[in-house]
Amino acid sequence: MKIVVGVLYTLLPEIILLVIAAWLTHYATYFPNAGIVATQLVALFILIAALALSMQFNRSRMFFALLALLIGYAALSELAATGDTLSRQILSGSLCLFLPFDLVCMPPLAERGIFTRYGAWPFVLLLLEILFVILLMVTRARGVADALFVEFVKWPWFSLTAISQPGLLLLAIGLLWLNDRLILRHSAELAAFFFSLIAVAVMLHSRQPATVAVFAGAAALAFGIAIIQESWSMAYLDELTGLPGRRALEEQMRRLGNRYVIAMLDVDHFKHFNDLYGHDVGDQVLRLVASRLQKYAGTGKAFRYGGEEFSLLYAGRSLEDAAPALEMLRVEIETSGFNPRRGERRSGSEAQQDDDAPLRITVSIGAAESGTARKDPWSVLKSADRALYDAKRTGRNRVRLSGT
Ligand code: GH3
Ligand code: MG
Ligand code: MG
Repeated sequence: MKIVVGVLYTLLPEIILLVIAAWLTHYATYFPNAGIVATQLVALFILIAALALSMQFNRSRMFFALLALLIGYAALSELAATGDTLSRQILSGSLCLFLPFDLVCMPPLAERGIFTRYGAWPFVLLLLEILFVILLMVTRARGVADALFVEFVKWPWFSLTAISQPGLLLLAIGLLWLNDRLILRHSAELAAFFFSLIAVAVMLHSRQPATVAVFAGAAALAFGIAIIQESWSMAYLDELTGLPGRRALEEQMRRLGNRYVIAMLDVDHFKHFNDLYGHDVGDQVLRLVASRLQKYAGTGKAFRYGGEEFSLLYAGRSLEDAAPALEMLRVEIETSGFNPRRGERRSGSEAQQDDDAPLRITVSIGAAESGTARKDPWSVLKSADRALYDAKRTGRNRVRLSGT
């Protein structure tokens, strides 16, 4: 149940787009010619705008998906105007094959830039596909054109759609595979790819100019939204721990009311973890502390302040309310025990002495409240920092409340 809700939440912008696109398509049958042309122009504009956005943010996977979509959209519009049957068959069969293929190809690629040596091969792929279609049209290769519509099974209801069986197979594999990836990783980009495959399926099935335009535009919008969503996460979420970062903390601090508590938390002797076990284990410790914070901070919201320092915001609370939660948090971290994966412990150091013993992670916490003096949140944070320093000075692994 939780998995389904998680995936649906990630797909929320796409679900809204789907509803709007379906609604628009329903009315598109009543569109006059000028309305259809306008829809096509809007779709083209959205495609180009999303393409420019992906270039601006250097998102190569989405750039190439959008480029494939733009070429496919142009070719599908061309299809309606193509007179002879063989050319139509070649164009249609190639689109059914290449469009889903290109979209499924992109997500596993590494993000390595657009106009770089690595970025060159999707360009080559698209170019080869275009050359293939031109070559077939020029040579009028009927055998290949028929092969594009090869029938694996002869069920009569396959004739209800204009999509070739190889195309249907690719679409089904792509959707199942992306669904599987979405369950593992709730990423806005994967959600956009998932939706673009659905949009392509509708475009290839319907062939109505207005429907093709609406769904091409919707798919481009989905990519545009994903680019914006992901750059937002990049700016606000800390990559290592997944917690909101300093920028997000400052934004929340500006929105605090009169009553709140700010706590600062620092991992004790963190430098030792790095020195004895390496930076990777240090990173694992930070992730573990972050997950404890999310689980045991009570009503507090956790942020990664920077390095091995974290902040907690308790909006609408007093120190008296927050203190028990902070103490419980400290104990939870102290007793959580952490076993770095074997082999990651460095040899030749004191770490070898008790190779299997879990590492003991402790944290020091300092907290301060807004109080009655109407201090601004930044000076409350400073007080919390001073209390943290006190906790360190008096032996670490403890909570110190400002003014006590
Ligand atoms: P104390 O108990 O006084 O806080 O001692 P400490 O060793 O924790 O404090 P110190 O500030 O000297 O060390 C912090 C170290 O955290 C130094 C820096 O190399 C390390 N560090 C900062 N950010 C990261 C990170 O993202 N990953 C890892 N692995 N280490 C980090
Ligand atoms: Mg520190
Ligand atoms: Mg420290």
